[in-house]
Amino acid sequence: MKLPLILIPFMLLSVHPAEKENNFSQMEINHIRVVTPGLFTDSNELDIHLENLKDTEYCFPLAGGKVISPYGRGHGRHSGADIKTCAKDTIRSAFDGVVRMSKSYSGYGKVIVIRHSFGLETVYSHNCKNLVKSGDTVKAGQPVALTGRTGRATTEHLHFETRINGQHFNPGLVFDFAKNRLRKVCLHCLKKGKRIIVRSE
Ligand SMILES: [Zn+2]
Repeated sequence: MKLPLILIPFMLLSVHPAEKENNFSQMEINHIRVVTPGLFTDSNELDIHLENLKDTEYCFPLAGGKVISPYGRGHGRHSGADIKTCAKDTIRSAFDGVVRMSKSYSGYGKVIVIRHSFGLETVYSHNCKNLVKSGDTVKAGQPVALTGRTGRATTEHLHFETRINGQHFNPGLVFDFAKNRLRKVCLHCLKKGKRIIVRSE
């Protein structure tokens, strides 16, 4: 059969890499701390250019929220920032991405992990309800969950984490929690052994 030439580019597009992106391993679907395939394979350095993101490409995850417990607090070294508004409030994806994990996970309760194209992952935890499932493509600002107190939580809030290659780092480097705004900076990530060191400039 002879196909009109004009159809061929569309056929090539149908095996778009986005379908492969959604093909997470069982480890990636079931655990929070997993390395990102392909990250740090060619270099031990990675730059994340938050300053290049357009206004439609980012969103503060819980509008009007106040930090009630910052990153790094306590002997357990708090792995994220606790942001509070009220029960069943809308939690939104911070950036465009693909939902890697959506389930209940021990102390996290109902949790969502979203992988973003530029090497960052964001985590939204203690939800009363998850609105998206593993493999879903999401846009920045899209509702992904409702605030709750599932897992190890004493009040309704969002426990928000930022991770690179599975390792958490201060989400205050990504969002200015005094103004609930994105920091338009470049994040320099350096892999040292299994550790990732994140600095902002
Ligand atoms: Zn927390």
